[in-house]
Amino acid sequence: MTRPVLACIDLAALQHNLNQVKKLAPESRVMAIAKANAYGHGLLMCSQVLEQADAIGLLDLSEAISLRKAGISQPICLLEGFFSADEIPQIINNNLEPVIHSPWQLDALEKINDEADLSVWLKVDTGMNRLGFSAAEFKDILARLSAMKCIGSISVMSHLANADEPESLNSTRQIQAFLEIKEAISLTRSLANSAAIFALPECHLDWVRPGIMLYGSSPFVDSSAESLNLRPVMSLKSEIISIKNIKEGDAVGYGGSWICPQDMKIGVVACGYGDGYPRHAATGTPVMVAGKLTKLIGRVSMDMITVDLRGVDDAEAGSPVELWGREVSVDTVAKMSGTIAYELLCGVTARVKRQEATNG
Ligand SMILES: *Cc1c(COP(=O)(O)O)cnc(C)c1O
Repeated sequence: MTRPVLACIDLAALQHNLNQVKKLAPESRVMAIAKANAYGHGLLMCSQVLEQADAIGLLDLSEAISLRKAGISQPICLLEGFFSADEIPQIINNNLEPVIHSPWQLDALEKINDEADLSVWLKVDTGMNRLGFSAAEFKDILARLSAMKCIGSISVMSHLANADEPESLNSTRQIQAFLEIKEAISLTRSLANSAAIFALPECHLDWVRPGIMLYGSSPFVDSSAESLNLRPVMSLKSEIISIKNIKEGDAVGYGGSWICPQDMKIGVVACGYGDGYPRHAATGTPVMVAGKLTKLIGRVSMDMITVDLRGVDDAEAGSPVELWGREVSVDTVAKMSGTIAYELLCGVTARVKRQEATNG
């Protein structure tokens, strides 16, 4: 028997979530964001569904090339562009679309003396103060890019800092700033991430860029994925590998941080922070054991957690456990761990096998 921890990937749920994007932004094309190994879900497996999007957004050249080798032919955007000039020939050969965000990248492109029909995305910083050229620089940068022999089409994107707070005036300001760039109006434009797809339809524009919603997690702190009609794609699963009867007053796990309030049964689950289950998950974080909802007790170890088996009478070694997925929302586990689902999903480590879910 192999260690039972497993990330089951429900491609029907991914398909459903992609359809949700199309319903919410029917006038826009969809760039499905699949960086960080499709938010931890397994890029190649997910590409079976994501190839129905109009484009895929990635970070690594190597990930993009792996998709090309797998026969994915739609546009692929590299969201941080190239990291050094020597990547440009591969970008051209694989027909990839780099984001151009910094002067050094323009210098590098200017040195390419061939006609190459390279499609690029010009990144504008509209107030996040992370990647991109300022709106004031835009005209000159665009003129420089347009004059280059290697450039085919030029599209424009910016990124929102506060889209998950729909009331935020920052989003209004950023959208305004983006729409006011005169030279960009005639170009293809993109601004919306998942949160903006739901909350800021005025910025859907030509292309939307959903990430987290595709994987079935809510981009908002206050709304559940279910209330947004999103379906969880990943179920992180394992099994009980040992059951213990312990006495009132006994301390469980590292630091003895959890003290048994009564004589009771606890279960040991083969999953820990070495698998990507968050070490900061608090006692009380929900866990599904043998079809019943119970809770994490004590500290998360590298390879194990302990769970309360009061009320889970039929639990035994080998009983199935869901750490997050259909029954336990990854958003809840994230909240109980002081983080967001993005971090948990991309944090599932390489030793956890990704397996396509078979039951619908
Ligand atoms: C990651 C990313 C997205 C997707 O954001 P979500 O909040 O996951 O929808 C969109 N655009 C860019 C540039 C990104 O880097």
